[in-house]
Amino acid sequence: MIKNTLSLALTLSVLLVGFFSSSSGQEVPQRVITHVTGDFYRAQNNNHNSAFLVTPEGIIVVDPLNEDFAEWLKQELDERFGVPVRYVLYSHHHWDHASGGAVFEDTAQFVGHANMLTHLAMPPDSTTLSDVIGQYAPVAALDTNANGQIEPSEAAGNDTDAPFSAFDANGDGLLSGAEVLRGPLSQVRPPTITYQNKLEITLGGKRAILEWVGEMNHSLDMSRIIFPEESVMMVVDYITFGRLPYRELDYELGMFQEWMAAIREAEETSKNYEYVTTGHGPLGNWENVTEWRVYFEKLHEVVATGITEGRSLAEMRENIRIPEYEHWTGYNWLHENVLGMYHFLTD
Ligand SMILES: [Zn+2]
Repeated sequence: MIKNTLSLALTLSVLLVGFFSSSSGQEVPQRVITHVTGDFYRAQNNNHNSAFLVTPEGIIVVDPLNEDFAEWLKQELDERFGVPVRYVLYSHHHWDHASGGAVFEDTAQFVGHANMLTHLAMPPDSTTLSDVIGQYAPVAALDTNANGQIEPSEAAGNDTDAPFSAFDANGDGLLSGAEVLRGPLSQVRPPTITYQNKLEITLGGKRAILEWVGEMNHSLDMSRIIFPEESVMMVVDYITFGRLPYRELDYELGMFQEWMAAIREAEETSKNYEYVTTGHGPLGNWENVTEWRVYFEKLHEVVATGITEGRSLAEMRENIRIPEYEHWTGYNWLHENVLGMYHFLTD
């Protein structure tokens, strides 16, 4: 059982930085490369995990995370291994995992699910700030001078999880409705190779296999990535180890049944491999996927039962406990998870 090899104490540090995070970005990032098995390594940046496989013909990186981290990683890889990065594989398009790939573009191909291009596409120019729904609707609401765009002065001091510049795709110093609706994706280097259901990459005699997770809550472009020669499976965000689902936001897009099906499929698949590595949290194996699946089943059961019994949302948020998961990071988000599950069951 390989568990908790990396400190969970690290994992909260970045989640809690500000919305437009430049003002809180002075902390020294905690970065570490950890050997997992064979030629496979994890590379950690605060509470985010990247990973890479080294071969004689070059390196395959999963998720460059951000530009600053990618620059650091490139230098580390050059010093330690002296072979170039040939592939950057994307787990999915989200900015906090997929940004920074351009650092490797002189030598690498970029690989992601075909739906990544849809997620990265800019909405029509006619999109207004009031068209923005979902996670970034609070950004759109910052237009205090009602000129239809967000200036840096309007954004200052407000909370979101990404820098202003990450939203500002055309670099004009203003955020339009289209830029806010698209999200903070301006530092995501688009994939040069896409696939629909399954893709096998071979480099230096070793394989990386990308499999589409299917349409589900977290995103529509999620890849499960398997390194069969190293007996490692990597899954990001739709499965996390040792941490509760992120607030209520992880529930936002609906498709809970599809999400559960994807988790169960990953749980079965992971039994074929010795290690499972995730985008957040410690290295683990199939048993940790089971723990994650059981968390959702418990949360689902307690909220569904509460609704049937006529408990109010406010009362459930106040009083629901799942004590078996108290030791997980983010347990104080449980009331937000209750809110997310409540919406799943009632919307
Ligand atoms: Zn994500």
